[in-house]
Amino acid sequence: MKLPATFISSLEGLEGFDQDAFEKVHASGDQITSIRINPLKSSSIINEDCFTGDPVHPSIGVKPIPWCGWGYYLEIRPSFTFDPLFHAGCYYVQEASSMFLEQALLQTSDLTKPLKVLDLAAAPGGKSTHIQSLISKDSLLVSNDVIRSRGNILKENIIKWGCSNVMVTNNDPRDFAKLENYFDVIVVDAPCSGSGLFRREPAAIEEWSLNNVQLCNQRQQRIIANVWPALKKDGVLVYSTCSYSSEENEEIISWMAGQLSGEICHLTFDTDWGIVPSGGGYRFWPDKVKGEGFFMACIRKKDGDKESIHKIKSKPLFATRNDEMIIKNWADTSASDFIKYKNTVYSWPSDLVNDFSLLLSNLGVIYSGTIIGEIVREKLVPDHAFALSSQVSKLIESKALNYGQAINYLKKNDLHLENSSKGWQLVSFNGHALGWINVLNNRINNYYPKHSRILKDL
Ligand code: SAM
Repeated sequence: MKLPATFISSLEGLEGFDQDAFEKVHASGDQITSIRINPLKSSSIINEDCFTGDPVHPSIGVKPIPWCGWGYYLEIRPSFTFDPLFHAGCYYVQEASSMFLEQALLQTSDLTKPLKVLDLAAAPGGKSTHIQSLISKDSLLVSNDVIRSRGNILKENIIKWGCSNVMVTNNDPRDFAKLENYFDVIVVDAPCSGSGLFRREPAAIEEWSLNNVQLCNQRQQRIIANVWPALKKDGVLVYSTCSYSSEENEEIISWMAGQLSGEICHLTFDTDWGIVPSGGGYRFWPDKVKGEGFFMACIRKKDGDKESIHKIKSKPLFATRNDEMIIKNWADTSASDFIKYKNTVYSWPSDLVNDFSLLLSNLGVIYSGTIIGEIVREKLVPDHAFALSSQVSKLIESKALNYGQAINYLKKNDLHLENSSKGWQLVSFNGHALGWINVLNNRINNYYPKHSRILKDL
């Protein structure tokens, strides 16, 4: 891997930059694999310091990631596609440096309180699923991406995570300005020149230029300026990039401290972690940290208001009593309100109904809470999202599949199961739901979503 001379010289003098070590680590071809466990489903996927999800390598060694309670390095990269628990949403495959977000949130915000958090540039969902695992049940996460197709991927990952306190939106950053003083935390994982990922994606080297770094800097300022009004007084903006360029990192922080009068928050951590403090933020150099290139900083807003006053323009349509009677046969209905739009029923956390209603009339919402299913002729046709949530009633039958059956199900092939009773049932692997089947007299209908099915062969 040859790194461009203009790129290397642009890094000279940066805090922690060691040219020899940096070039060596890029030339080494080393690849790091890491995952973050979903505490909502915490599974046996890590067992006695081993990752057990790969049928070819059934006991891959793991090591905890020091800055993230649920994060693990894996000794070798398994085939995630062929691990049913990956599809069940038991864990997320995420780059280790990015998981430092946990320290940023823990050290700057009281995560035991009900918070309103915006993840502005959220697709495919690494930071959003992490934030969801850290905030309390009665907190709200708005997970947004400006690109619609990426918003759909984000939605799929949020569904897999099995939570219901998240709203997925597809908005431009400037659309959030009208929600003045609304959010306690805004995470801006900004689009950037991407040099931090050169080791993993060498093709990105071709696209790097000083000119692009400059354009990214301007776009980053624009994004932050657009969304800043939506942050409340004393709220925190967590800014990050996967770029090494100071124009996209320290310069943005100093611009925020100056132009926006933000106060830089300092984080404390073990120096052995190898993370380098720089210009109010924290640098991750791959020759010092077991992870890719990354930068993160936290800025507290010192002006604005602590309270936000927003009128809910229209109330959502609640499911009728009759609908609720039908839903009660399927779902744990405590702590949820049921909304019906056309025939589709959504479950919203009761604590968040007002916030969800407000956001629904202000943003381009593409997903909210959990879709329970469609009510057709007085019967519920359950949705895949419902299967992956924790809301399915214990009274609903669940069929445990073996490994071969689980892969067959995830490929959306025909299933042949012995001694199955008739009707709708969950299918699960190692105690975790994969989706729905409907057992008829002469066949079993496989309701795994077509767009998610495994296409490869083992
Ligand atoms: N936070 C994500 C995660 O952890 O999985 C990764 C986000 S990626 C670094 C940056 C995101 O910014 C992309 O999903 C992209 O669609 C979005 N984006 C691109 N242009 C944007 C813009 N002008 N304003 C806001 N977001 C933008």
